[in-house]
Amino acid sequence: MATTGYSAVVDRLMNALGRLPGIGARSAERLAHHLLKCPAEEALELAEAIRAAKDHIRHCEICFHLTEVDHATCSICRDPRRDQTIVCVVEQSRDLIALEKARTFGGVYHVLLGRLAPLSGIGPEQLTIDALAARVQGGTIRELIMATNPNLEGDGTALLVANRLADTNVPITRLARGLASGSVLEFANKEMLADAINGRQRF
Ligand SMILES: [Zn+2]
Repeated sequence: MATTGYSAVVDRLMNALGRLPGIGARSAERLAHHLLKCPAEEALELAEAIRAAKDHIRHCEICFHLTEVDHATCSICRDPRRDQTIVCVVEQSRDLIALEKARTFGGVYHVLLGRLAPLSGIGPEQLTIDALAARVQGGTIRELIMATNPNLEGDGTALLVANRLADTNVPITRLARGLASGSVLEFANKEMLADAINGRQRF
């Protein structure tokens, strides 16, 4: 391992920060310096927040959205007003939250926990596709809406899911391209997302 000139303790902190998505070595170094410089309470609040989230949050047993540990399923799956027969398939809980803010969709979700990214080593087995297939085979679902992101990896993921479920005869739709190609669901505004849900089309 290359020597960084820092002590082992600082190296450990920088390595941990550098494993976060979107944080390169330079950003990790900058964040580590910030944490070492800021008041201890501030830095430890971050550590505590991470610990609390890891201790108290789990994935819903049905849809894989985030939920508190004392519930097996999330508040959406538990909500009797939601239509359990229409399932919107998203990559991440972040996308689900964005769609919920649009207040247009009254069904339930399935969170894939990622998208196909062969170059980063993310294949179908890393996603929750088997669980989705089992849900569909349960026989109560009458529509699947593919709401993966409208870019190369999102489209590839949607195609894989659609192929996998092709023999189940459940109609699969996808969001209308009110979303600009190449854009990211979590940053789309409410109106765009509402249009995209309402204008969904057959996959
Ligand atoms: Zn759920």
